[in-house]
Amino acid sequence: MNIQDYKGVFVFAQQEDNKLAGVSLELVGKAKELAKDLETEVTAVVLGSEIGDMAKKLGRYGADNVILADDPGLKVYMTEPYAHVLTQIIQEKKPEIVLYGATAIGRDLAPRVSARVHTGLTADCTGLEVDPETKNLRMTRPAFGGNIMATIICPEFRPQMATVRPGVMQRIHPAGESSAKVENYKVELPEESFNVEILDIVKKVSDKMDIQDAKVLVSGGRGMGCPENFQLLEDLAAAFGNGATVSSSRACVDAGWVEKDRQVGQTGKTVRPNLYIACGISGAIQHLAGMEDSDLIIAINKDEYAPIFEVADYGVVGDVTKILPAFTEQVKRA
Ligand code: FAD
Repeated sequence: MNIQDYKGVFVFAQQEDNKLAGVSLELVGKAKELAKDLETEVTAVVLGSEIGDMAKKLGRYGADNVILADDPGLKVYMTEPYAHVLTQIIQEKKPEIVLYGATAIGRDLAPRVSARVHTGLTADCTGLEVDPETKNLRMTRPAFGGNIMATIICPEFRPQMATVRPGVMQRIHPAGESSAKVENYKVELPEESFNVEILDIVKKVSDKMDIQDAKVLVSGGRGMGCPENFQLLEDLAAAFGNGATVSSSRACVDAGWVEKDRQVGQTGKTVRPNLYIACGISGAIQHLAGMEDSDLIIAINKDEYAPIFEVADYGVVGDVTKILPAFTEQVKRA
C-alpha cells in the first residue's frame, strides 16, 4: 500500500427517510478543519434512494464534493448492500480519512468496511486532529471505563477510519449557497447483497424532546431518591418552557427509573445545552464525559465535596427535594 496515493477526507453522510443525521453535519464541519490541515478537500458520501436534495445541504455545511449513490436497493439501511457500495467507493477514490457517526448504523457499517479495505478503525472517538509533523490522524477515545483518554494512530494503513460520537463536534454555521461538486455514482449491487429482507420497520414514537436537541436539561441522579421524585425535575423543565427537558445519569437508567434515551454520559448521549442542571448527580467521570461542555452548569448536591461541583459554574449544597420546588417557583416568577 502506498499511502501517498490516498487523498481527501470522506464523511459517510447518514440519512434515513431522506433526513440527514445531525452527527453527519457535525462531521462535515470537523472534516473541513482536518482537510485544511492536510491541504485537501472534504467529500460527503450519501447512500440511499432519491437523495438528490441532500447534496445542497451537505455543501452548505462545508462539503467540497458530494458523492450520491442513489439506488432503490439502498432505500433503507441494510448492512450488506451499504457495505458493498461504500467499500467500492473507497477502493476507487482512495480517501486518506473516512469518518462515520457512532450511531447504530455507523457502528454496524464502519467495522465491516474497514475489514474489507484492510485498514483499522477507531470506534467512538471524542477528538480528532492532524499531527502537524507526521500528518497522521490522531484519534482520541475514552478507554478503561473512561478512566483514561487513549490517542490512537494508524500510520501504516489507509484510509484512517473513525466513528465519532454524536454531539461532540460542533456544526459549522451553514453557508447560504452550496458550491459542492456533485457526482452521481453508478451503483452496481450484486444479487447476493440482498441476503436479508426487511419485513417491517417499527419506529419508537416518543413525545419527549431528544436530550441532544434541548437548550435546558434538568438532569437527575441517584440522589433523587426514587422515580416519583423525577416529577420535581419535570416541573422545573416545564417552568423553563419549550426547549427544556429531563435527562439523567446512568444510575437511574440502570435502576429502571427512566428510559435509556435520557442517559447522559460515556455510554449515553453527549449533550451541549445552554444550561445543564445536575440534581443529585455525583459527577463520575463517565457522566462528565457527556455534559462538561455545556455552556452553564448548575449542580445541586447535599455533599459539598461531590466532584460535580468541580465542573459546575454555580453550586447549591442541599437536599434536592427541598431546593427543586423553590427553584421551580423562582423560574415561574422570572
Ligand atoms: P451516585 O454516584 O450514587 O451519586 C448520587 C449523588 O447524589 C451523590 O453525590 C449524593 O451526595 C447525592 N445525593 C444523595 N441524596 C441527595 C439529596 N437528597 N439531595 C441532593 N443530593 C443528594 N454514568 C453516567 O451517568 N453516564 C454514563 O454514560 C456512564 N457510563 C459508564 C460507563 C462505564 C464503562 C462505567 C464503568 C460506568 C459508567 N457510568 C455512567 C456510571 C458512573 O460511573 C456512575 O456510577 C454514575 O454516573 C453515578 O450516577 P449518580 O451520580 O446518579 O449516582
